[in-house]
Amino acid sequence: MDRNTPASPLVLDAKEVGRRPGVMRELNFTAGAPADFGTDVIGVPEGQSMDLGVRMESVHEGVLVTGTVSATAKGACVRCLDEIDLPVETTFQELFVWPDRAKHHREVDAESDEEEHFIEDDRIDLEPVLRDAVVPNLPFQPVCREDCPGLCSQCGARLEDDPEHHHEQIDPRWAALEALQPLVDRPGTENDEEKRN
Ligand SMILES: [Zn+2]
Ligand SMILES: [Zn+2]
Repeated sequence: MDRNTPASPLVLDAKEVGRRPGVMRELNFTAGAPADFGTDVIGVPEGQSMDLGVRMESVHEGVLVTGTVSATAKGACVRCLDEIDLPVETTFQELFVWPDRAKHHREVDAESDEEEHFIEDDRIDLEPVLRDAVVPNLPFQPVCREDCPGLCSQCGARLEDDPEHHHEQIDPRWAALEALQPLVDRPGTENDEEKRN
């Protein structure tokens, strides 16, 4: 039994299943997120734990890795700038090819322009696969909730905290009329005069 500890929890040991097609191995483990695991607006912070369920399956050309990853991405709402914790759960599947099978694999898979993944020194590096599975699924414009009211365009106050929030807004043209009003219109003046008569 090989007990060598891989360099990173995201690096699997291909010898777990070896070159014996049909041999399968299931692993459940927690690993810290690698650096740059997200976009400018949202991502899983480096070192934050991710739960992984991985099945390694020895196939003719290499090792087929299928799994799920769940983690919590952190970012800021694009409307109100509040912090967001966004649960992320996604699946992935990737064939890692033995180096000596790579040429054959390339011929068979010539049509595909997908990036190929290889087993190097019996190691399977999940990091790029996880990145490709998680990062494209993160929202471009994360919001704390779909109907987040955002910030007041005039003073920047959070409208969520103060839904009644509004500003007395007097159009400059109306303001000018209001200033004139006492001179041009005195309601009731005529009537009063009639009553007196
Ligand atoms: Zn928000
Ligand atoms: Zn305001």
